[in-house]
Amino acid sequence: MTVQGTVLRHAAFSAEISAAKINMNSTCQASSAYLQPLWNSVKNNENLLKSCLFPTVFSFSVNFVLCLPFFLLDMLGPCFSFFHRYKIWKDEPFNLEVWWLCLKKIVCNHVVCVFPTSILYGFMRPAYLPDEAPFLPKLIMDVVLGLLLFDTFYFFAHLGLHGVPWLYRNVHSLHHEQRKPFALTSQYSNMLEIIFLHCFALIATYILDCHPLTEIVFFIVNIWLAIENHCGYNFPWATHRLVPLGMFGGAPFHDLHHWRLKCNYAPYFTHWDRLFNTLIEYTEDKQNFGKTGY
Ligand SMILES: [Zn+2]
Ligand SMILES: [Zn+2]
Repeated sequence: MTVQGTVLRHAAFSAEISAAKINMNSTCQASSAYLQPLWNSVKNNENLLKSCLFPTVFSFSVNFVLCLPFFLLDMLGPCFSFFHRYKIWKDEPFNLEVWWLCLKKIVCNHVVCVFPTSILYGFMRPAYLPDEAPFLPKLIMDVVLGLLLFDTFYFFAHLGLHGVPWLYRNVHSLHHEQRKPFALTSQYSNMLEIIFLHCFALIATYILDCHPLTEIVFFIVNIWLAIENHCGYNFPWATHRLVPLGMFGGAPFHDLHHWRLKCNYAPYFTHWDRLFNTLIEYTEDKQNFGKTGY
């Protein structure tokens, strides 16, 4: 082959690479274009986003708003048989006093635990608001990876909380006061446990170096899944029914954990419990729930 021929082939190859790069860029731009208007409107509130109070107020508000439908369902449940038939413990009466007790504890936990850990995290990783929105596929992938990381951190910490008697007695037993959980019990925990939970979520987004919009979506999804786990309803449209192959536990899986204690330690996915042989499958028949851990 002549030198001229080789040069021509190189030129053609470079042109192909450039065309592929342009194609990839335009795909990415199209993909980020979906989120750009949303990110622009979020970014317009820069002062609010950078405020030291934002993570605490945001976390509490999301918790409160997402728990509200379950509060109404529990209170008015028997009047709405369509929803009530999916309740795991149908005969459990609504107790306003316990809901109030949980709400007070959650307010206290946000002030004493979430606020200082968020301030500390803000110093370690000051808020950076880029102009461009994240790519939609990357946002989805980061949220899923973040949940897998959070799930892993919590699974092993949870094993420790049940395995070390001192830790169970002095830290985790508060969360297990409710044998039949309801939405607000997702955050009804000892302060030390809340600090660890909050740190696990922050570390997951830190490791993945998430875009701020991805962080916001991750925190909303994480709070929603924790509430769904504790809501006490086995809805046909719940996340665990939508994820195939029983890979996601959901409310029935976590209800069994509150009932029997020594099983179903992971908060969301089931792979760690399968691997450690601590998985117990849910059954509609409460006779088969087995002995309570109490
Ligand atoms: Zn729980
Ligand atoms: Zn537990």
